Amino acid sequence: MNLILLGPPGAGKGTQARKLQDERGLIQLSTGDMLRAAVKSGSEIGRKAKAVMDAGKLVSDDIMIAMIEERISQPDCDKGFILDGFPRTEAQAQALDAMLGRKGLKLDHVIEMAVDEKALTERIVGRYTCAKCGAGYHDSFQKPKVAGICDVCGGKEFTRRADDNAETVRTRLEAYRKQTQPILPYYRAKGVLKSVDGMAEIDEVARQIGAVLS
Ligand code: ADP
Ligand code: AMP
Repeated sequence: MNLILLGPPGAGKGTQARKLQDERGLIQLSTGDMLRAAVKSGSEIGRKAKAVMDAGKLVSDDIMIAMIEERISQPDCDKGFILDGFPRTEAQAQALDAMLGRKGLKLDHVIEMAVDEKALTERIVGRYTCAKCGAGYHDSFQKPKVAGICDVCGGKEFTRRADDNAETVRTRLEAYRKQTQPILPYYRAKGVLKSVDGMAEIDEVARQIGAVLS
C-alpha cells in the first residue's frame, strides 16, 4: 500500500507516519528528514538546501523529485511507503504520478490531515526528537513517560530543529497555503483524497487513518 500524508508543518504527518511504519511495516519517506541528513553530511545537495530550509522556503522541485525517485527505487519500498512532506507543489505531484506510472506502482490513498492553523506554531515550537533513534516528542502534547529518557531507546539526548521557530513557521505556513494546498483538488479529482481530523489526540488521529486504510 502506498500513501501520502498531506498537511501543513506540524499537522502530525511524521508522528502518524512513524506509527504506520511500526505497526504496518510501511516505509516512511520523509523528504524533510532526507534533506536534514544531506545537510548533516555536507553533500552538495545539503549545502544548496540549508539556506532555503533555514528560511522556511521550499527546496527546488528538480532536487526533490530526483531525491524521491532515487529513494522509491530502493527495494525496501516494495513493501509499500508513506510519503511525508512530498509532494509539496503541483509539479512534484505530477512528477510523482509519472514516476509511479513508469514503475507500475499506484497511490492507494492521499490522507489530508485537517488542522486549525492557530494550533501549529505551538506544536512546532514544542517539537523535539531523540538524538539517537529519532522518536518524536512534544513539550506538552507528547512527553516521554520518564522525563529526559526516550521511551523507545532509552536515549538521554534530544534535538530541536533549527527551523522550528516562530518566525520560520510563518514562512512555512505561507509556503503551504500558496504552493501545497493547491494540490488537494488534484487528488480530490482523482478520487483518492480522504480527510482525517488532525486536531484530535494522536491515538484518535491514528484510529481515523486506520479506518481509511481498512
Ligand atoms: P509534521 O510531521 O506534520 O510536521 P509532527 O508529526 O512532527 O508534524 O508533529 C508536530 C508536533 O506536534 C510534534 O512535537 C508532535 O509530538 C505533536 N503532535 C503530533 N500530532 C499531534 C496531535 N494530534 N495532537 C497534539 N500534538 C501532536
Ligand atoms: P519538513 O521536515 O517536512 O517540515 O521539511 C523541512 C524543510 O525541508 C521544508 O521547510 C523545506 O525547506 C524542505 N522540504 C522538505 N520536503 C520538501 C519538498 N517536498 N519540496 C520542497 N522543499 C521541501
